Amino acid sequence: MELPEPPPGSAQKGPAGSGLSLSRRGFLTAIAATTGAATLAACSPSPNVAPSASPSGSTAATGALDVRRVAPPKLDKAQLGKRTLCYRPLRKGSPNLSVEIEGSTIIAHNYGHGGSGWTLAPGSAQYVVDLLEASPEGTGLPKDTPITVVGAGTIGLFTAYELVQRGYTNITIKAESFDNLTSHNAAGLLAPVSMDNDPELQKVIDKIGIDAYKFFASVADGTQKDFKEGAVIVPTYFENREESGLEPYVGQVMQPAKDVVLDFGNGTTRPMVAYDDGIFIDTAGFMKELTDYLKPKVRIEKGKVTDLTALGSKVVFDCTGLGAAELDDDANMVSVQGHLIMLKDQAPADLKYMILVYFDEAKTQSSQKVKRSFYFMPKRLLDSGPNDVGVVGGTFIEGATPETPNYEEFDVMMAGARNFYGI
Ligand SMILES: Cc1cc2nc3c(=O)[nH]c(=O)nc-3n(C[C@H](O)[C@H](O)[C@H](O)COP(=O)(O)OP(=O)(O)OC[C@H]3O[C@@H](n4cnc5c(N)ncnc54)[C@H](O)[C@@H]3O)c2cc1C
Repeated sequence: MELPEPPPGSAQKGPAGSGLSLSRRGFLTAIAATTGAATLAACSPSPNVAPSASPSGSTAATGALDVRRVAPPKLDKAQLGKRTLCYRPLRKGSPNLSVEIEGSTIIAHNYGHGGSGWTLAPGSAQYVVDLLEASPEGTGLPKDTPITVVGAGTIGLFTAYELVQRGYTNITIKAESFDNLTSHNAAGLLAPVSMDNDPELQKVIDKIGIDAYKFFASVADGTQKDFKEGAVIVPTYFENREESGLEPYVGQVMQPAKDVVLDFGNGTTRPMVAYDDGIFIDTAGFMKELTDYLKPKVRIEKGKVTDLTALGSKVVFDCTGLGAAELDDDANMVSVQGHLIMLKDQAPADLKYMILVYFDEAKTQSSQKVKRSFYFMPKRLLDSGPNDVGVVGGTFIEGATPETPNYEEFDVMMAGARNFYGI
């Protein structure tokens, strides 16, 4: 039986709709579709924009233009580090945020956040725990009720964190794997992109995102009580406001974006929009912080779960990401492959910004549809040196799995990045 859902009535278990899709972000044709042969017409220097003499990252007014000198990362071969392939847990229609009863077990689902798991995680955890506590079976649960959170990615760890905040004392986190998850590898942009939400559900996702923004902003400004590191405010650049997904946040928790021109100091300039209160999340670092916080407060168990009702817990939170496809037999779950290249030997002080631009849609060599983008974020890995800062990404290949690695996309992606910066 499925529990009736509390207002605003937003638990979603229905089949996928079309609605907001990856394509709503309007991929722009900018690099050649053929492997390695990228050319970028828009990349040539804009003759009407004077290069700024101001230091990297600063702003100079040139007439009405807000021209900002932004240093490109060093993208020579020697500066390219670890290559990573990972997989976004996209659920068509919306993430599954719902509560149901199976036998004597209350199951709360919290999975399927696509390319926005970090962007939404704290708000999504609050939302689903609210759903549980507002349900008839969840109302007034004793605080020592046995609860198992299945999954130890950002969604599982933030769900466990939220339960600890609400005073629950008998929590187990069970997961097949705790290391090197998609959640550790994610780039770190706070922006609700790369989801596929039904339009009528988008308002709920926006509210969850705004709550998550508030959480990360409190980490960034030092007022969050448990976490002081792991989120920083940095200017975040997109080609237009619509592609950012952040417009619903403006006026609620963010300032309006500004029209700016980025000057890369090499003759290349680009008109962009800037959200100066964008948030970068240090995903690998935050996973460690969350784990360190939770370890003394919860039990940790390693193992694959095949039946959520067989765990012996009254309440089970299903935070299994892509694992939900099999565990819940959820046909709406899709794996969206992403390629990432970590950078090394950089000048970290120059790289305190984020950029996301969309390129073209094409076919990979294995004939899978790829939506290409370029993004840069100042990500670090836990075991990296002090100057090993920065990640370049951006592929979105729906349905791709480790069996179709599409390795050639690493080179296409890097060609797009170099062309974007004019290097
Ligand atoms: C290339 C790339 C870049 C990204 N960049 C960003 C970004 O900049 N910003 C952003 O917000 N998001 C980003 N994302 C998306 C984000 O990483 C994901 O949405 C998020 O990590 C999903 O978290 P999760 O906890 O649901 O899944 P995961 O991190 O995959 O964790 C799932 C957990 O469930 C466990 N599990 C699964 N099945 C079972 C089972 N049957 N039994 C027991 N345990 C099970 C796994 O072992 C694991 O512990 C990116 C993703 C990719 C691939």
